[in-house]
Amino acid sequence: MPLASPAIPSTCCYCGVGCGVLVKPEKNGDVTVTGNPAYPVNRGALCSKGLNLQYTVNDRSDRLLYPHMRYSKSRPLQRVSWEEALHRTAAVFRTFIEQYGPDSVAFYASGQCLTEEYYVINKLMKGFIGSNNLDTNSRLCMSSAVVGYKMALGEDSVPVCYDDIELADCFLVTGANPAWCHPILWRRVEAHKAANPHVKIVVVDPRATDTSALADVHIQVLPGTDVVLHQALARALIENGDIDVAFIEQHAEGYEAYRQLVFARTLEEAAQLCGVAEADIRLAAAYIGAAKGFLSMWTMGLNQSAMGVDKNLSLLNLHLITGQIGKPGAGPLSLTGQPNAMGGREVGGLSNLLPAHRNLANPEHRAAVQQFWGSGPLAEKPGYTATEMFEALEDGRLKAIWIICTNPLTSLPQVRQAEAALAKAKFVVVQDISTKPETLAYADVILPAAAWAEKEGTMTNSERRISYLPKVVEAPGEALPDAEIICRFARALNFPGFDFPTTEAIYEEHTRLTAGTTLDISGLNYTVLREQGSVQWPYRSGQPQASARLFTDQQFYTPSGRAIIHPVTATFRSEAPDDDFPFILTTGRIRDQWHTMTKTGKVSKLNQHTPQAYLEVHPQDAAALGVREGNLLTVKSRRGTVRVAARLSTGIRPGVVFLPMHWGKILGSDLNRANNVTSATLDPISKEPDFKFCAVQLEKY
Ligand code: SF4
Repeated sequence: MPLASPAIPSTCCYCGVGCGVLVKPEKNGDVTVTGNPAYPVNRGALCSKGLNLQYTVNDRSDRLLYPHMRYSKSRPLQRVSWEEALHRTAAVFRTFIEQYGPDSVAFYASGQCLTEEYYVINKLMKGFIGSNNLDTNSRLCMSSAVVGYKMALGEDSVPVCYDDIELADCFLVTGANPAWCHPILWRRVEAHKAANPHVKIVVVDPRATDTSALADVHIQVLPGTDVVLHQALARALIENGDIDVAFIEQHAEGYEAYRQLVFARTLEEAAQLCGVAEADIRLAAAYIGAAKGFLSMWTMGLNQSAMGVDKNLSLLNLHLITGQIGKPGAGPLSLTGQPNAMGGREVGGLSNLLPAHRNLANPEHRAAVQQFWGSGPLAEKPGYTATEMFEALEDGRLKAIWIICTNPLTSLPQVRQAEAALAKAKFVVVQDISTKPETLAYADVILPAAAWAEKEGTMTNSERRISYLPKVVEAPGEALPDAEIICRFARALNFPGFDFPTTEAIYEEHTRLTAGTTLDISGLNYTVLREQGSVQWPYRSGQPQASARLFTDQQFYTPSGRAIIHPVTATFRSEAPDDDFPFILTTGRIRDQWHTMTKTGKVSKLNQHTPQAYLEVHPQDAAALGVREGNLLTVKSRRGTVRVAARLSTGIRPGVVFLPMHWGKILGSDLNRANNVTSATLDPISKEPDFKFCAVQLEKY
């Protein structure tokens, strides 16, 4: 009788919480997935998505199995060998690069890619093709937080760890619904508050959510006024004497200009602008001011905004004036949306980044990476960001795009324009696991990729914790790991440096490139990760000790070593409502779905929670429109239309409506797709789109 296979430790592939799981291969080729009780993040617990992860692995009915290709747009796709697919793709890329230059091609990848995958794509594009046109869907997610950290702290560095949750006594949760979107982390907050009723929770959200249900004060802010609110909190903290003068004097700069800025507006004026009670602002400030450990948590409500960087900086300012950073239970904790957006940032996998927090604009940094890779010169000019890529496809600057592990025709803002752009593209490569993404209809080449548990690699979660994910089962058909596909393609282009004998060899090269930087993980390898389960960075060679917290010495990564308080003004850049489009539309996630539902949409249990898209609307607004619960509503913006059922809720502000972002085209209809109506207005620095704010009109259908 064969022995039962042991359960193998791995990490959940959904959100940035990064829960540990045990994957057990079964005799029939399926796997079972359970929470890993020994893993420090989740201690065995999983949310509904993690609990159903095994079904997405075991149901292979939608998997891409073989490479396909067409020789012209007018001919049908046909099955081809890997060699033929990559040989022709290399020939097409080479032709465009020779004819139009390296900036005529681009890669658009994903925060779900493993670090090793990011690494080889980045090396290929920036080092050998010679363009920075590599961006990922992390641009739509965390780029405002990245810029905020860099500007305030000197580098993109999350200073805290999850264990700070149990050490904090005041939480500010803003622009986030972790009870649904980062559930296991929120369970820790709930348990902490249950055991310590004096712990205070401030939630800032235009909607009542399962998160705000736990709040001591819920500030139901008018969308777009977060900076005003943060400044008002700062003013109250200063007035109450609840700032850390010694920290400001010794470890921060920019305070005086900031103080003048926040005193230019009274709390009464700020409350009016934010549409909230002044007493609530005062109460929240009193909670923050009294805290021994003040922890903030935020995600897309601050990041996905035309004012995303300003919102991040104004939140970080609250930590800097109170000195609540670099000590137990205190600091900013940006909740990463995707499982490995952090790993992508570490390898420099965005169009304006270089590996290991090196600076694209710095010639010494570019030269160091070039020398390490043995490549050609690295381009100084940042590449196209996510939305810019599709604009460049539409006007012909970009000829070819290679889309990896992401579904832009559901997830990009103003998505009908992206659809038109992809239709105009000269050459489209789609590398994916599933037959579902709408992009496949535009593909000239389709490459089947191995999925989670079918390949090995590493990921980094929101607390800088790196984990190793093993291969547990074989990929179906001829599907290959993404890193293997990219290395084969690089070799088809005759580039050196892509002959990695193993995935571990890619990781080893990546860790060597981090040596001497702030995220130095030169002491890390797969053996250490397998032995320890996971470690936080930095993890230096010769000093094998993970760092739970950064800035404990109050030395920041800025040239002066001081953190910078930026006096950002509350400049409004979103699409303001008017007589024609009087409602503010905000978008977000629902509890049991992940992104564009390619995986979670396969699980009937998960679909039961919210089977269809809907529009959350206040009963007062619904009554004015003659709309009742369940009536169909047409939602129109200047860019498109959505038609969904009304869900009446007194939990949302009048004048504001909420639309879930997960649904794409269903049976050829795109009327559930939130991004038909969203705005592609970008934050001017982070280039993150304004998903959380656009002006719409509503009509009963
Ligand atoms: Fe997976 Fe995130 Fe749920 Fe943890 S909280 S099980 S990482 S989806």
